[in-house]
Amino acid sequence: MEFRDLKSQYQKYKQEIDTAVTDVISSADFIGGKEVKELEEQLADYVGVKYCISCANGTEAMTLLMMAWDIKEGDAVFVPNFTFFSTGEIVSFRGATPVFVDVDKDTFNIDTKKLESAIVKIIADGKLIPKVIIPVDLFGLPADYQEIERIAKQYNLLVLEDSAQGFGGHINGKRACSFGNAATTSFFPAKPLGCYGDGGAIFTNETELADLLNSLKVHGKSENKYDNVRIGVNSRLDTIQAAILKVKLKAFIDHELEDVNRVYRLYNERLNGIVKTPYIPDGFYSSFAQYTITLTNKKQRDQLQAKLKERGIPSTVYYEKAMHKQGAFTYLKVDDTDFETTNSLCDTVLSLPMHPYLREEEIDKVCEVIKGFCLHQNQAFLLTKF
Ligand SMILES: *Cc1c(COP(=O)(O)O)cnc(C)c1O
Repeated sequence: MEFRDLKSQYQKYKQEIDTAVTDVISSADFIGGKEVKELEEQLADYVGVKYCISCANGTEAMTLLMMAWDIKEGDAVFVPNFTFFSTGEIVSFRGATPVFVDVDKDTFNIDTKKLESAIVKIIADGKLIPKVIIPVDLFGLPADYQEIERIAKQYNLLVLEDSAQGFGGHINGKRACSFGNAATTSFFPAKPLGCYGDGGAIFTNETELADLLNSLKVHGKSENKYDNVRIGVNSRLDTIQAAILKVKLKAFIDHELEDVNRVYRLYNERLNGIVKTPYIPDGFYSSFAQYTITLTNKKQRDQLQAKLKERGIPSTVYYEKAMHKQGAFTYLKVDDTDFETTNSLCDTVLSLPMHPYLREEEIDKVCEVIKGFCLHQNQAFLLTKF
């Protein structure tokens, strides 16, 4: 069984993908060109924003925004504590200070009450200037943007939606990658919409910001690429990756997004009442980058993972280590007691095989192992205890 089955997807779309790749090679147009432009238009159209700016990967997408907004030493950027390293890394990379915020125990996304307290505290301390909030759409579920946008407005902060895992999700029809001042996504192969290498994109409705980003990603170019008006970077999406993504975007829209949601429902039907299953609030739709269950403690989680492995079922712990515990962030000297939920999730979460090509027999097999394991555990394991 595959954790995320990219091979079945390729077999299904082999002919179209092979043709798309060969066409790019035959045209010898490897950087930029028609494929990249068409992909950007299709992505912007799907998400429902004016501009899509493709780039080298999801981390660079966020770094480019930090550059465009001139985030620097002395600035505070609010980041969930339970996320992939990248979300905090790009802040420190600019010399600014990431302020980690605990997450909600059910959605796993940034806790908006704690976010507001963190902002108030930074203002009261007077050492850093609050500038940006970076909510993450963790495991495919959009963060609580209604509340986040209210807070951003009240404290005059920018919002960068880190939707590396969230492409395809929505809140009452408003799609992920359309929230905040700008949003970013990643096309890393295992993300909801992945390419065959690294890739990323930025989304925004702001014309000036889009122009600035298009300049920054190509060495600070002006209209002319050999007239450099600012210091930038080289961060482009390869034409071959764009051609592959065009085929995969169509599959994603045609059926893959619905298929992962079907897998989610099948898992939930079998696991509800056995373990804590993913919580999707009313009006929210997830793109299920991960299907993550929560156990009662670390020992049970680790034992279940070992049991699944014994039966040939892959599973992963996203994330074992809170951001504030990462060695690279020890310099921030963060107080561990502020992160009750994150610390507990790091010990208890387990992500199961999840992808649009997962078959019902496979889902049955995974769930039987989990049920068998839980039956052997004491009563404390039952959902009534959550
Ligand atoms: C994957 C990921 C990124 C980084 O994307 P890359 O394309 O690998 O650079 C950033 N944030 C989150 C939440 C991610 O999951």
